[in-house]
Amino acid sequence: MSALLEIRDLYLEFKTSRGRLKALNGITFDIQPGEVFGLVGETGCGKTVTGLSILRLLPRSATITSGQVLLEGTDLLALSRSQIESLRGSKIAMIFQDPSTSLNPVFSIGSQIERVIRQHMQVSRQAAREKVRSVMAAVGLPDVERILGSYPHQLSGGMQQRVMIAMALSCSPRLLIADEPTTSLDVTIQAQILKLLRELQKKFDVAVILITHNLGVIAQTCDRLAVLYGGRVAESGSTRDIFNQPQHPYTRGLMNAIPHPGTRGKKMSTIPGTVPTNPGAMTGCSFAPRCEFAMERCSLETPPLYPLGENHSSACFLVEPKP
Ligand code: SF4
Repeated sequence: MSALLEIRDLYLEFKTSRGRLKALNGITFDIQPGEVFGLVGETGCGKTVTGLSILRLLPRSATITSGQVLLEGTDLLALSRSQIESLRGSKIAMIFQDPSTSLNPVFSIGSQIERVIRQHMQVSRQAAREKVRSVMAAVGLPDVERILGSYPHQLSGGMQQRVMIAMALSCSPRLLIADEPTTSLDVTIQAQILKLLRELQKKFDVAVILITHNLGVIAQTCDRLAVLYGGRVAESGSTRDIFNQPQHPYTRGLMNAIPHPGTRGKKMSTIPGTVPTNPGAMTGCSFAPRCEFAMERCSLETPPLYPLGENHSSACFLVEPKP
C-alpha cells in the first residue's frame, strides 16, 4: 500500500531574540491510509510543530529550511498559499487541545459547520444542512436540533470537542491531525473522545495523527507511533512492538512514567533533566545529557534510525548492528 503522507527529512527553525532555534532536525515518517498514528514526546520535542508544518499553519518566526511533506505524492511545501488553503479542511483537517478557542463564540454551532462545508464543497444550502446533521449525529451529539442553534459557551468541553471533530470530518478529509484533543477534558470524557476517534477513523476511512505527551493515550488508540525527541524520531514502530519491546532509552523513560492502577499515592518515575531548547545546535545524540547509558561516542555522533525489523526502528547506538 502506498503511503498517504510522507514526511521526509524535515528541518525547521525559529528566529528568536537569542538566535536561530533548530526545532525540527530531520523528522521522517509515513502515514498509511486509514491508520491511527501517534506522535508522542514531552513538551518541546517537536510534535505540535510537526503537525502545524503539514498544514503550513506555522507562526511567522518559523521557517522550514529543508525536507518534504508529500500528500499522495504532492509536496505540500511547494504549493501556493491558495492551493494549501483549499486543501485545509477538505483533504486534511486539524483539531486542537482547547475547542473553546477554535470555535467562534458569536456564531451558532450549526452555522459554523455549515460554513466550513460550503467553503469546500459545491453544495446547496439544503444539502449542507443535511450534511451538518449527519456529521453531528455521527460524532454522538445528542439532541442535534438543539445543538445546531446553540452557541459554544452553552456546551460542555466534551461536547465542544465533538463539535470540532464533526466540523473536521464534515468535508470527508483523508487525514485528521488531532493535537492533544483530550488534554483539557476530564478523564471519563477523554476516554469517550478517544473511543470516538477510533470509531470515526473506521467509519470515515480517515487516517488520524494523534499528537500527545501521554503514551497511555497512544496505547489505547494508535496502530503505530513515532516517539520524538529533540526534533527527531527517537523510535518508531507498531504500538505492539514498541510497548512489548521499547528499544530507545527515552521511550523506556516515557513508559516508566505511565501511571498504572495501584500506583496512586506512590511517587511517579520521571526522566531526569529537561528537554533541550535548541536540540539542532547540539553535537551528538540530543538525549545524551539525560541518558543513563550515554557513552563517549554519544556526545560526538548523531545516531541514525537503525531498522530493528519490519516497521520498527530506533535512533540509538545501543541497537547498532554488530559488524
Ligand atoms: Fe543514550 Fe547514546 Fe542511545 Fe543517545 S545514542 S539514547 S545517549 S545510549
